[in-house]
Amino acid sequence: MRSTDIRTTFFDFFTSRGHTRVPSSPLIPDDPTLLLANAGMNQFKPYFLGEVSPPYPRATSVQKCARTSDIDNVGRTTRHATFFEMLGNFSFGDYFKADAIAYAWELLTEHYRLDPGRLWITVYRDDDEAMDLWRRLGVPADRIQRLGMDDNFWSMGVPGPCGPSSEICYDRGPAFGPAGGPEANGERYLEIWNLVFMQNLRGEGDGKGDFPIVGELPNRSIDTGLGLDRIAAILQGVDTVCETDLLAPTLAAVESLAGRRFPGRDGSDASVSFQVVTEHARSTAFLIADGVLPSNEGRGYVLRRLMRRAIRHARALGIEVPVLTTVTGSVIDNLAADWPELEAQRSLIEAVTSREEEAFGTTLRQGTRLLDAAISRAHTSGTGRLPGETAFELHDTYGFPIDLTIEAAQAAGLAVDSDRYAALLDEQRRRAKNTGKGKTAAAMRRQDTYREILAQHGRTDFVGYTDTTADT
Ligand code: ATP
Ligand code: MG
Ligand code: MG
Ligand code: MG
Repeated sequence: MRSTDIRTTFFDFFTSRGHTRVPSSPLIPDDPTLLLANAGMNQFKPYFLGEVSPPYPRATSVQKCARTSDIDNVGRTTRHATFFEMLGNFSFGDYFKADAIAYAWELLTEHYRLDPGRLWITVYRDDDEAMDLWRRLGVPADRIQRLGMDDNFWSMGVPGPCGPSSEICYDRGPAFGPAGGPEANGERYLEIWNLVFMQNLRGEGDGKGDFPIVGELPNRSIDTGLGLDRIAAILQGVDTVCETDLLAPTLAAVESLAGRRFPGRDGSDASVSFQVVTEHARSTAFLIADGVLPSNEGRGYVLRRLMRRAIRHARALGIEVPVLTTVTGSVIDNLAADWPELEAQRSLIEAVTSREEEAFGTTLRQGTRLLDAAISRAHTSGTGRLPGETAFELHDTYGFPIDLTIEAAQAAGLAVDSDRYAALLDEQRRRAKNTGKGKTAAAMRRQDTYREILAQHGRTDFVGYTDTTADT
């Protein structure tokens, strides 16, 4: 089943069951506590909280999601992307657990025709009711696992609605690892759908980010998320999200630039690099289309990290020509029919990616040489650490985001002296503030370039270029 049909089947199923179809919200959320949209429920948060009365009791959507927290997993697991589409059905104080579970089961087994014998379920450890509901649908007890807070209690990661959840996983068989259910092996037992029984509220807490549960929501609600990439991988019989029809044309573009084939999920560096370039191309295109521009802070930094990481991995594959504009172009070609904003912002995406690649491409080689030399020095001296000074110089002079340096150091079996790095960065920021110059001359020029690009491409609602920290 093609991904377009997977979306349509989902919408048909839920609209015929009284759900109002709601468009995806932009990746830049209307919520100051959240950097980027990371789940279908984000735009409905005020309804769950009871702050705003919902215009419909049930909704369904396909939401654009960004999860930078999964960046290191890309290409290392088969299932994580930094951008993905989440299909969801929602109830705002209307139906609850029993219907949510029955809907999901019916859609998966009768419409997507997944073999029920391969489906595994996880429930929150104390949730006897969910356990019982699954049993009544015919799921045997030995394919239902009870898990704790970490796995089966869903929260936004910021203050807001939360609740126990139940996840549906698909057993991809021994080729993906040993048996034991989702608790033992998240790669073999691919989590496809998370059903959240929204009934609790997390508050600000002590301000240190632990967001304790502070009470019950006014109404019990339903929030679900089915990962399109993952169900597409299953229905299309491919191993990784990059091989689904959502990304296959982009993977093919990377293959043709590299002059060699994707080796599959063989755990090799090349395999990871192919997937990083392919996957980051998609998140890059969607972020720019939604108004993010590269900078050294916030969302702009997320975008810059993704682009620079993609470029570095392209070089690792031996691609010496500019790559970002080509691969993001293939994302647009492939996905614009479903996401018209990509086509509408094509020239902007081209301009931003080629500008960023120009800026980073010229320093990448020198930076890589410096990095390699520092790595071999650390090996010879046996410290096991890359000095903070090196990480700082790489950032300051060569534009290496710190996590690129950390990633390269880790690959060489080294840690980075991050404390020293942070101290140097701090010192530089303070100096810049004192002299009244928040930015280097190069950063000012770069900012002007992005302003020009924007003026040419006619968008006014962009974020990311107004950062106030010292740029590199
Ligand atoms: P995992 O345990 O595999 O990291 P999760 O529990 O963090 O997934 P949820 O927060 O429950 O994921 O999100 C709902 C659904 O969105 C998941 O069941 C999955 O299908 C999909 N999903 C989550 N994270 C990603 C990702 N990084 N890339 C692609 N799809 C994802
Ligand atoms: Mg996760
Ligand atoms: Mg999970
Ligand atoms: Mg989950």
